[in-house]
Amino acid sequence: MFDKILVANRGEVAVRVIRACRDMGVRTVAVYSPADAEALHVRLADEAYCIGGSRLAESYLNEDAVLTCAVKSGAKAIHPGYGFFSENAGFVRECEKCGLAFIGPSADVISRMGDKDAARRTAKAAGVPVVPGCDLLTSPEEAEREARRIGCPVLIKARSGGGGRGIRKVERVEAAARAFVEAHTEAETVFGDGECYMEKFVSPAHHVEVQIMADKQGNVYSLGERECSVQRRNQKLIEESPAPCLEGRDDVRERMHRAARDLARAVGYEGAGTIEFLYTDDGNFYFMEMNTRLQVEHPVTEFVTDVDLVKWQLRVAAGQPLPFTSEDVPVRNHAMECRINAETPDFLPSCGTVTMLHVPGGPRVRFDSALFPGASVPPYYDSMLAKVIVCSPTRDGAVRKMRSALGELVIEGVQENSDLQLRILGNEEFLSGNYHTNLMEHIYAEQ
Ligand code: ADP
Ligand code: ADP
Ligand code: MG
Repeated sequence: MFDKILVANRGEVAVRVIRACRDMGVRTVAVYSPADAEALHVRLADEAYCIGGSRLAESYLNEDAVLTCAVKSGAKAIHPGYGFFSENAGFVRECEKCGLAFIGPSADVISRMGDKDAARRTAKAAGVPVVPGCDLLTSPEEAEREARRIGCPVLIKARSGGGGRGIRKVERVEAAARAFVEAHTEAETVFGDGECYMEKFVSPAHHVEVQIMADKQGNVYSLGERECSVQRRNQKLIEESPAPCLEGRDDVRERMHRAARDLARAVGYEGAGTIEFLYTDDGNFYFMEMNTRLQVEHPVTEFVTDVDLVKWQLRVAAGQPLPFTSEDVPVRNHAMECRINAETPDFLPSCGTVTMLHVPGGPRVRFDSALFPGASVPPYYDSMLAKVIVCSPTRDGAVRKMRSALGELVIEGVQENSDLQLRILGNEEFLSGNYHTNLMEHIYAEQ
């Protein structure tokens, strides 16, 4: 096992990784920006270094600064968390050059799966059904032609998009050319890569994703699935496992898990990863993308499988084989996560200093965050403040426990979205267990 690792991230995920390391007796190095000088990840790590300005490009996305810090501090490996460098093949190659292990798959796997367009082709070649669509678009005329062929509505998607951004819906063929030009320009600005492709807009559909773990010995396992159909602007709000939409559909579940394992095996995957599908009620599912990293909602899977995904990421990277006895790791109970975002009721970002904090507790209630009274929520970074995760023998029990946990949560000093979460938890369609990615539109249309 590595004796020291550098955590190249901030916020709740940096704290999550540092906690796993402390449990394992691995020393940790934190990096931070001036805006995060008092942050929890800085306080919990054994060592911490300020590596540049508060803007992302100056610090957390400053490759030279992160690598120099890792080498100088004597760290043996880098954990990228999610976002930031986690799906950056170039960064992984640089780690190799510096003699640092990257806790995640190889650069080659990331370049084949981290980019959505390449991933579609890899999935097709592995015999996994993909959303009907096309390869990279090269001109507005081609966008119009493809929209006609695929059939509107379609989505134009940035191959480097993420976090629900870089997706544009096209309702009519005549609007496709212009939408392509706008999407291209926007993707160039936001992701530094304008390349876009087109997919059929599949609706009503469920977002169901399979958690994968693979080791260097070539063993690939699936660890249950998560349903993440509660989304606002393609960004997840609530995730749960098992997927309610697969209740009574063990045949589909089995096929979906097998497709995910086959795909991971086909690319020589290593570590934790997630394969995302769109599932329609007629029993079909389509590959959407692979996230070659730890997922925000990983605690949901940790509750139902009793596997610590972060610890196993480290062990796999250090060469240990996974200990599972079945390629389909069994799942027990029902877990649910609500993302708590710093935002106003109108979804504008909210920042400031946390003046008061009360965290929910009790058996099988988990609160993952980097908050503490006095913590500052700077304007430069992601708006996710915390995750509340609960587990219960049944889905109804998990919903009740989540309501009670959110009812207990108090965060003062910044605005957050727990009222919206409670509203979703009271919605009939959500409670029925048969809800689709358009659930939030229905909820907003209610009043
Ligand atoms: P998950 O699939 O784990 O739920 P999300 O899609 O919500 O992950 O993204 C995880 C985090 O990483 C979010 O904080 C998001 O803002 C960020 N992120 C993911 N991909 C990108 C990207 N291509 N560009 C910028 N940020 C990204
Ligand atoms: P990101 O990297 O931002 O997570 P995804 O490709 O996973 O991008 O898409 C994010 C969300 O957008 C999905 O969870 C789904 O709700 C919606 N979406 C993406 N592609 C389609 C599609 N072809 N049809 C319908 N909805 C889609
Ligand atoms: Mg996704």
